Amino acid sequence: MRIQLLPENVAEKIAAGEVIERPSSVVKELLENSLDAGATDVAVAFEDGGKGLIEVLDNGRGMAEADLALAVQRHATSKIRALDDLEKLRTLGFRGEALPSIRAVSELSLLSRDIESTRTFEWKSGEVRPATFGHFLGSKHGTRVQARGLFSQVPARLKFLKSNASEVSMTREWMERLALTHPETGFSLTSDGRKILSLRPQSADERIRAILLEGEDYPIQAQTFGESDSFRIRLHWVQGYTAPTTKKMIQIVNGRALRDRLVQQALLSAFKQLLLPGQFPALVLSLDIDPSELDVNVHPTKTEVRFLENRKVFAGIQEAAKRLIEREGAPMVVAPKLFPSPSQISWGAPQDNASRPFAHGAESAFSHGAEGSFNYGAEGSFTRGAADARSDSDSLYFPSSPVLPNAFLTPQAQHSFFGPDSIYRGQLFNTYLMYERAGELWIIDQHAAHERIRYEKLKTALLKRSELSPAQEMLLPEIVHFPIESRSELERKLAYLERLGFNAELFSDDSLVFRSIPAQWGASRLGPRLKSLVERLISLSEIPSGASASTASVDEAIFEKLASEACHSAVRAGDPLSPETSKSIVAELFACEHPWNCPHGRPTVVRVPKGKFEEWFLRRV
Ligand code: ADP
Ligand code: MG
Repeated sequence: MRIQLLPENVAEKIAAGEVIERPSSVVKELLENSLDAGATDVAVAFEDGGKGLIEVLDNGRGMAEADLALAVQRHATSKIRALDDLEKLRTLGFRGEALPSIRAVSELSLLSRDIESTRTFEWKSGEVRPATFGHFLGSKHGTRVQARGLFSQVPARLKFLKSNASEVSMTREWMERLALTHPETGFSLTSDGRKILSLRPQSADERIRAILLEGEDYPIQAQTFGESDSFRIRLHWVQGYTAPTTKKMIQIVNGRALRDRLVQQALLSAFKQLLLPGQFPALVLSLDIDPSELDVNVHPTKTEVRFLENRKVFAGIQEAAKRLIEREGAPMVVAPKLFPSPSQISWGAPQDNASRPFAHGAESAFSHGAEGSFNYGAEGSFTRGAADARSDSDSLYFPSSPVLPNAFLTPQAQHSFFGPDSIYRGQLFNTYLMYERAGELWIIDQHAAHERIRYEKLKTALLKRSELSPAQEMLLPEIVHFPIESRSELERKLAYLERLGFNAELFSDDSLVFRSIPAQWGASRLGPRLKSLVERLISLSEIPSGASASTASVDEAIFEKLASEACHSAVRAGDPLSPETSKSIVAELFACEHPWNCPHGRPTVVRVPKGKFEEWFLRRV
């Protein structure tokens, strides 16, 4: 016989591996239990990076004597009774696997006092005994779970643990994500006696500030969407803040911290309008959905979910984000306090410090200045704050995000841009159009503005095929060569080009012939643009597929990927423009859906308030 049943203790350890990978997974499971038990305060302590001891204290409902022994059994749970209960699940746990898994890979003990009792019991080494409670966290009820010697019997796992410092920091990260789901609960983490995290109960905004911004002061904008439907979406967006990774995009689905790709894509598809490639927003998305429309039983650690109606969820999240962005605008606005002195501005300089937007350093620089030491032209008076924000020479870079805090422009303001109070003041450096308006100087980058206009026109035309002007037949078909090994790839994707209004055929093993192109595409530099269009098409990998992708969203996604070839602006920086042309560009810009950035994310408009000029000329100190 070759097949044998594994001994119980081996099977247990293998099964535990699905749930418990490292110290942070122990903490996640234990904290989920504490939160399910209604705790408003939880404290985690580590010794030796979690390998020595992991202890979790909570002031939740606690467990009675009889439940203590059951809690550590596999498939023992108080949270569901039958399979159907998953349809109305409101708790984080339900699998009844966490405590037995932790027990299999460490020396586990539980000490608890039930909310309805005055007696305390401890479960240890398979036995339940009376114990003394010790009033932890100032509560009369609650639970203390201790896990000692994690993986000491499982060398294969132990080997894969990282340094104590990294295990602690991964744990901190998980705790922060859980803390964002429960701002009303206090969280703390200590490691070998050192405080790593300490969060008191607070409002959602305060919690977001504490965790995502480490206390920095940015406005937080909120939007609620879909309340009348079977879901509710609440979005908190840290306006003006950008991060170099998606780590600060927090997803909470029915109180569960997740990393779901669908949710992420829905958010990014809306926010990319505001950000340069490689920049990501800081935000918290909370989705509350009827539990029957959600399958959380997809993954042992419950970090992935499945939505019954993918498309509805995707569209809902995208819509909520778009509304928020439209409502708050994406202002390329310079608030008086944030504008650096002219000697320190270098427009479009490298964004070597993307995670620390300009405003951070500049603001402290200016509050420093406002205290009375403002000294025009004397670089030294700025260095205290500004120096941390810049890492190269002596110039401040322009904000890594074009969106600056404390400065919003509402859609209403857009529409009234051409009111009697807007006066055209001419073109600067043959590149910037200047308007005086309501006590501010508005500076518009003519090239960026024109790119935005071209982009939106082409997009509308391509996506609503009815508005597509008849294809422009080419007198001489344009031939584009491609690497021979990409032929089959290209063949599969050719239909996309067709859908966007191009007529192209494979010509030989390594070339494609374009016979007609959309009229809106324009005829300048056709050869190189078609070549890079084809290159992009070949490298295009992420085309949304499956249930989540409607035809329109696929078209839009393809268009976005190919877009940079689309907006070949006729108006360049350095072109002199007549006042009439300037005005019509600005009028068209403000008729755009997203007037604030060019399609590559650079700002189109910067506002300088009059107060800033007064500051420069020492009229107001
Ligand atoms: P699950 O959370 O999936 O039910 P667990 O193994 O994590 O499974 O926990 C088993 C049971 O033990 C829970 O259903 C709950 O009744 C009880 N329990 C665990 N931790 C706590 C706690 N901190 N406070 C109160 N009850 C707890
Ligand atoms: Mg649990």
